[in-house]
Amino acid sequence: GPAPEADGEARAWLKRHESGFGHFIGGKFVQPAAGVHFDAMDPATGKKLGRVAQGDAADVDAAVVAARKAQGSWAKLPGHARARHLYALARAVQRHARLFAVIEALDNGKPVRETRDIDVPLVARHFYYHAGWAQLQATEFADQVPVGVVGQIIPWNFPLLMLAWKVAPALALGNTVVLKPAEFTPLTALLFAEIAAAAGLPAGVLNVVTGDGRTGAAIVGHAGVDKIAFTGSSEVGKLIRAETAGSGKSLTLELGGKSPFIVFDDADIDGAIEGVVDAIWFNQGQVCCAGSRLLVQEGIADKFHARLKRRMQNLRVGNPLDKAIDMGAIVAPVQLERIKALVATGVAEGAELFQPEIDLPTGGNFYPPTLLAHVQTAATVAREEIFGPVLVSMTFRTPDEAVMLANNTRYGLAASIWSETIGLALDIAPKLQAGVVWINATNLFDAAVGFGGYRESGYGREGGKEGAYEYLKPKAWAGRKARVAA
Ligand code: NAD
Repeated sequence: GPAPEADGEARAWLKRHESGFGHFIGGKFVQPAAGVHFDAMDPATGKKLGRVAQGDAADVDAAVVAARKAQGSWAKLPGHARARHLYALARAVQRHARLFAVIEALDNGKPVRETRDIDVPLVARHFYYHAGWAQLQATEFADQVPVGVVGQIIPWNFPLLMLAWKVAPALALGNTVVLKPAEFTPLTALLFAEIAAAAGLPAGVLNVVTGDGRTGAAIVGHAGVDKIAFTGSSEVGKLIRAETAGSGKSLTLELGGKSPFIVFDDADIDGAIEGVVDAIWFNQGQVCCAGSRLLVQEGIADKFHARLKRRMQNLRVGNPLDKAIDMGAIVAPVQLERIKALVATGVAEGAELFQPEIDLPTGGNFYPPTLLAHVQTAATVAREEIFGPVLVSMTFRTPDEAVMLANNTRYGLAASIWSETIGLALDIAPKLQAGVVWINATNLFDAAVGFGGYRESGYGREGGKEGAYEYLKPKAWAGRKARVAA
């Protein structure tokens, strides 16, 4: 049949902003100081979706000034009043769920089935959950004060969800925000800002400045920002860490990963195969905690690989708006080229390549689900984050060897263990150096559970009570009793 089209509401929203989006500063859209825009592209078609402002130091400064002006009164609101705003944001996201889901699919290239069933509901849940911390702030965090003005820089793989992970806790605990979405996927952040204003969020509490790495660097370098919260590559994370050292700014980093997916010979094979599909082909593998390294026990390795290849043959790659597809487009041509180059390196370094014979749409950044088997532990593809739909596999003999291989990485974001012997799984789990370990499961998230990495995957947590602390600083109070006049 014909390729599905975006619905009228999404088209109308894009049309309304056809002349070019501004930044969202002090409660309204303002055009960039230097008047420079860049194109937002649809990764599935290569067509332009809109024109987005390229933020520079002057734009960032205006946003920081607006955030500073709003912070005092926002922090002074009683917790239940701030909670009401977070509830209103959650409801607004739900009310506009369809529009968010379609714009996200168009801008990022991910299947609308995922944005509809996963991203958008998790966003709403995040705001509902953090409304609770706003309400409990006075009792649960009596010895803490908000950090102040927070600069938040996010990646393109879950644009709206990463916004929620950052904005919800910051606002709940009395901070104001200058947020920069990734240059590939700025649209849902702008839509969110528009909808937040309509839902009554006070001016200046949330500011969105769009642009690329230079805009991000301007936020990091701005003296009026009290904290930087960054999610993105380990490379840029290191730059930001060096940049903020000695500046007095607080910093949290959510970085890359190369997470192991360990299958023991007694695993439920059907479950583990579907687990692999979710671990590495969800969101085209552009997931920080993707189970990108399959470690399978030697005795079942041949059978497991054969079953996996058959399953790959049934994956459908196509138009993100088509609800029958499993995988959409890669976010941008530069990412597609990076994936292709890494796969070529994998093959050159001795891996066995498997790609199913399936149709790929033309005209967009499409790449098939890919398996690189028999990978050597020292191979580039075993060490580097590919951030695409490419699984590398290795085998192990003993549980100890599985642990050793799993931990043989500079990252430590997530790990997944598959075994029907719960004693074995519970013995392995604590030995894995990762911020989250899933047993007979993968990619499970909840707003109430802190998510974050070990080692070069970063530090700090998002979600849960530990995530709330990231937006607070301790303050001890002491004083003499006031003298009462006689
Ligand atoms: P990236 O580091 O290239 O960009 C992330 C953001 O930083 C973008 O908004 C970008 O414009 C900005 N930026 C780039 N250079 C900057 C600079 N010098 N100073 C300040 N800001 C700068 O990462 P990406 O390609 O957008 O995202 C993919 C990466 O994100 C992957 O490594 C992935 O693992 C990671 N990620 C991690 C998590 C997590 O929670 N740990 C979640 C999602 C993605």
